[in-house]
Amino acid sequence: MLAIAALAISVLSATADPTPHCLGAYEQGALIACHTTPDAAITLHDDAGFEARLSADAQGRFVLGFSRDAAPNMTLRVCAKGGACAALPLSIAPHDYNIERINGLPPGKVSRFTPAQLAHIRKSSARKKTAFATHVDTQAYLMGFDAPVQNARISGYFGSQRVLNGKPKRPHMGMDFAVPKGTPIAAPAGGVVTLADPDLYFEGGTVFLDHGQGLVSVFMHMSALNVKDGQRVKKGDVLGQVGSTGRATGPHLHWSLKWRNRYYVNPDAALSLDVSPLR
Ligand SMILES: [Zn+2]
Repeated sequence: MLAIAALAISVLSATADPTPHCLGAYEQGALIACHTTPDAAITLHDDAGFEARLSADAQGRFVLGFSRDAAPNMTLRVCAKGGACAALPLSIAPHDYNIERINGLPPGKVSRFTPAQLAHIRKSSARKKTAFATHVDTQAYLMGFDAPVQNARISGYFGSQRVLNGKPKRPHMGMDFAVPKGTPIAAPAGGVVTLADPDLYFEGGTVFLDHGQGLVSVFMHMSALNVKDGQRVKKGDVLGQVGSTGRATGPHLHWSLKWRNRYYVNPDAALSLDVSPLR
């Protein structure tokens, strides 16, 4: 009798144990996909004041992204709904970023805009802000990610530090695929289009695709768009074509991936993350 009661209690506490089980690499710019108790409250933080709060879905799933410069030590705290909490220390491995030096650029060529250009820049920036703030209910990320174009040379990596005429500039927050103009762009994962604009000032023809869990893909410099705002797409559907619209030096696809409207993560990490155990 006693033994049965003890077993029942241990099963009960085991089902409410929020200790998460995660898949993926603990590395700067990477993504992990985890499982815990349904609707658990999640906090990711470091000692320097960074904090992100989210909830697991009704099946206990959640995805965490680490920024380009994530601290080496972070804490993941998971609390079961109305129950116990678990705190896990995370060691985040540093990522080796390329340094791309470009010299001999004519000084003062950038950042001087006409009033018409400034109006275009402001309009573009407002559209992006609204789209990034939009959250869509979808589990499309659960089918995993595939490269949006095949057989491409990677001409730009996530996080590369750009040094122009000896001056460090903002790092490159996406992945560049060098392919000819007109190459079809396949949705790397399904999702909902939250922005489809043929003419943003810097980005040119642009599509935002929300895959769920706050993962939003951004495709830039497109020469043609096949999708509209609000459209639901499946993995592999053609979003449009590669081009060199906006500020691009030649035809290529720029793909970036933002996490929860906080920061960009490495699209390459999404390609190598196997989320199939969470389905
Ligand atoms: Zn790029």
